[in-house]
Amino acid sequence: MPAAATPLPETLTPRPGVGERLSRMIRLPTVSAELDARGPQPFEDFVVLLAELYPLVHEHLSLERVTEFGLLFRWAGAAASAQPVVLMAHYDVVPVDESDAWTYPPFEGRVEDGWVYGRGALDDKGPLAIVLEAVENLLAAGFTPPRDVYLSFGGNEETYGAAAEQIATTLQGRGIVPWLVLDEGGAVVDAPLPFALGDAAMVGVGEKGVLTLRLTARGDGGHASAPPKITAVGRIARAIDRLDPWTFPAHSPKAITRMLAQFADRASGAPQLLLRTLATFPWLTARAFAAMGGEPAALVRTTVAATMQQGGTAANVLPSQASATLNLRIALGETVAGTVRRVKRRIADPLVEVTVVESSEPSPESPTDNDQFALIVDAVNASYPNASTVPYVMMAATDSRHFHRFSPAVYRFAPLEMTNAQRASIHGVDERVEIASLERGELFHRALLQRLQ
Ligand SMILES: [Zn+2]
Repeated sequence: MPAAATPLPETLTPRPGVGERLSRMIRLPTVSAELDARGPQPFEDFVVLLAELYPLVHEHLSLERVTEFGLLFRWAGAAASAQPVVLMAHYDVVPVDESDAWTYPPFEGRVEDGWVYGRGALDDKGPLAIVLEAVENLLAAGFTPPRDVYLSFGGNEETYGAAAEQIATTLQGRGIVPWLVLDEGGAVVDAPLPFALGDAAMVGVGEKGVLTLRLTARGDGGHASAPPKITAVGRIARAIDRLDPWTFPAHSPKAITRMLAQFADRASGAPQLLLRTLATFPWLTARAFAAMGGEPAALVRTTVAATMQQGGTAANVLPSQASATLNLRIALGETVAGTVRRVKRRIADPLVEVTVVESSEPSPESPTDNDQFALIVDAVNASYPNASTVPYVMMAATDSRHFHRFSPAVYRFAPLEMTNAQRASIHGVDERVEIASLERGELFHRALLQRLQ
């Protein structure tokens, strides 16, 4: 019989040493892309390390291994019938480029001047650690959540592995629809837009889909001295040229409208007027952002980038075949099938074959006017009182997309402060996190869990 949910004073003193514990995690090289070379031992060691670092979590929560690389902890809540909360993170990391010069070795886990350095500090061992810190601290204070809380940790996110998908499928198979899912994504950033001053907790409410296409054209071959009007290489080049940025229509998602309205509240003068106008007229936002190109354009429409090209065997031989690979990021509200149709129509060449290499649909857009989002806002206010909570749309994919198939309230936010330089260190050089930020992150999760109803 689980205990009734216990309210808790906010004055709990967290266990010191979060930096050291994260450092221990960083020292295990859980590089999923190098699994074949390194073997599975670092991943197994990581599971053992978690039990050592978080004894109360292991005493009070059940741990289920879903596939070799999926860890699913369940913290039984007072009301077994209530829909659970799922807090997600991944414990694998991307490789380190040998030619990069790190200030400290990437797997040393150096703690220096209030910072923890190393691969995974931000992506995603830091965010994983603060979830466990919060749960451990709450357990030490005798807290029981009002509803079940699952911790879903995957060990192959960076290689598009199946752990998180299997965990999602497992819960779905048990008829469990999470009330709230929280995964990596946005962070607490300073001045996210040129006009938007101050700290903002950027919460991803949706993510774009991914589509890889191959274009193939065939030719007759032969000597290059008497060429046809267009060769296979020329045909592919023409097809790519036809896929200009305007191939796809621009729409402004609801989250972007709300983001602009919130930034308007904090701006003044001409920028404020501009932001207000954009927030009032989404069609205008769509056009303006599309015209700006780059990141603003990517927020409002499907993008297409030609990333690889092959064809021909010699300088003086007509190519019998040429091909190109396209990487597309599908805007919210559109589909893989519709995007493929549009690409074919735009290329308008029946001799260019279009094949789908891999695809995933864009996620739905989670609401921002529900209790779940209000809870996130409350937890941000408790941990980062100077930051406002702002929704946005992510361009990269996260493991949470597997939950978005059947759970309507999925949010992508790691409650850690990240400067632009820190964000560049993710998948890059000198990845690092400030211990003060880890402590605020722990407070975010603790506040979120304590305020659960
Ligand atoms: Zn990540």
